[in-house]
Amino acid sequence: MTSTAILLATFCILLAVSLLLQAIFLRWGVKWASGSVVTLRKALLVAFVLQFAALAIGLCAYLFEARLPRQGTATVLAELVLQIVVPCAIVAISFKLTFLRGVQAWLPTLIPGIALIAFSYLVLRPYMYEAFVVPTNAMAPTILGNHAIGACPRCGAPAYASPPDAWSVRQTDGLVMICSKELKPCNVLKFTESGGPDRILVNKLITPRRWDLIVFRLPSDPSINYVKRLVGLPGEELLIRDGAVWINGEKLEPPEELRGIEYLSSIEFGNQTREAAGTSPLKLAGDECFVLGDFSAQSADSRFWEMGAPGHPPYAVPESHIVGVVTHIYWPISRWRSFR
Ligand SMILES: [Zn+2]
Repeated sequence: MTSTAILLATFCILLAVSLLLQAIFLRWGVKWASGSVVTLRKALLVAFVLQFAALAIGLCAYLFEARLPRQGTATVLAELVLQIVVPCAIVAISFKLTFLRGVQAWLPTLIPGIALIAFSYLVLRPYMYEAFVVPTNAMAPTILGNHAIGACPRCGAPAYASPPDAWSVRQTDGLVMICSKELKPCNVLKFTESGGPDRILVNKLITPRRWDLIVFRLPSDPSINYVKRLVGLPGEELLIRDGAVWINGEKLEPPEELRGIEYLSSIEFGNQTREAAGTSPLKLAGDECFVLGDFSAQSADSRFWEMGAPGHPPYAVPESHIVGVVTHIYWPISRWRSFR
C-alpha cells in the first residue's frame, strides 16, 4: 500500500469512528433531554449533518479571515458562537425539541470530540503522524519555505530562493535561485516574493531509506526540527567529490527526480570559502546518518555544521534524532505531492 492510501485509510477510519461515537452520545443526549428513544440510524444521520455543518462553518471562517485578515478576533468569536448555536439548532429541529432541550441533547456529543483531540495529542502526533511548516528553502525546489519565485535564465523553468531580505542582497544584483528543472543554481534578476511555506506530513512508523526526506532534531540543538535528505547511512564511508556523493568508494546515483543535482564540497560564506565535511572520506558510526539539502549552494546541512550532538562529530545526525519520514506536502493544495 502506498503512503497516500494508508493516509486516506487512517483519515476515513478516524472519521467513521468519530461519527459513530457522536451518534451514540447523541442518542444518549436525546434520551437525557426528552426521555424519547431514537434509532441509531437517525442519530447517525444527524451526526453526519452536524459534522458537515461544523466543516462548513470552519471553511467559511477560514475564507472570511483570508479576505479580511484584520477581523481576526471577531471571526474567531463568531465562529465559536456558530459552532455552538448551529448544531444545537440542528439537534432541536431534528428531534422536535425546544432549543434549550436541543442544547442539553447536544452537550454529550462533546465527549467523543474531546476524546478524539486527546487521541490526536497522545497517540497520533507522538507515534504516527505529525505536520510541520517548513520555514527555509534549503530543500528547494522539493520543499519550499517562504520564497521568492523567478524563471531560470537558462531553461525558463521556475526557480526558487528565500526572499532577498533574508540574504540582504540588493534587488539589482539579482538573486541566486535554484532551477526546479536542472536542480542547479542560477542568477535571476526579476522575481516575485509571494510564495508561502509548504506544510508537510511526517510518518513516524516507516523506516527511513536512503534519499528519503526526513525530519530530525538538530544535533546541536534538539529543540529545533530540520528537514533534509538522508544520504549517508550508519556504518558507511562517505565522500563528496565532483558534485557527487561516494559511499564506500562507489559513486551514488541519485533517484530520477534529483537528476542534475550537484552536491558542493565548499560554499562561499561572506568573503570566506568554507570546506564541507566529507571532502575527505569520513566514516559514519553504527548509529549516525549524513544529511544533505537539495539547494546545495545554500543549505546548512551535515557538510557545514560546527557542533554536533554530545559524543558525535558535527556532521552526524544520530539515529535517535530522527523524527520521521516526510510522506506528503499537503498544503498549499497546488503543491500537493506524495514522496513515499
Ligand atoms: Zn534551468
